[in-house]
Amino acid sequence: MVKYTFKCADVGMDCGFEIVNAGSEDELLEALKSHAKMSHGLTSIPPDLVNKIKQNIKKSGKYYFACSSVGMDCGFEIKAASSEQELLEELMAHAKMSHGLTSIPQDTLNKIKQNIKVM
Ligand SMILES: [Zn+2]
Ligand SMILES: [Zn+2]
Repeated sequence: MVKYTFKCADVGMDCGFEIVNAGSEDELLEALKSHAKMSHGLTSIPPDLVNKIKQNIKKSGKYYFACSSVGMDCGFEIKAASSEQELLEELMAHAKMSHGLTSIPQDTLNKIKQNIKVM
């Protein structure tokens, strides 16, 4: 199960507020709305701030990817990486060794990111 964590400090607010292990992004945003109102005097959170918040929400779960999901039938899978960053680094090593790619083209990388599953 994916858990969502956010700190006001990540978007430059110094209030010390944190939400840890919310069960969904929506739940986290709802809790944050009350906090924004009570502590920051915001009756609604402006869309650009919402985007910034979303970019800073950390998901804790296990990251999964299979080459077959982007049409490569090498059978390679990564299970239970602890972050997207870790998963991508492992995948880069695999792409180099098994697919002869010294770097992953941007469009393939986008496709890969769309196919990463968090559990
Ligand atoms: Zn705050
Ligand atoms: Zn592969």
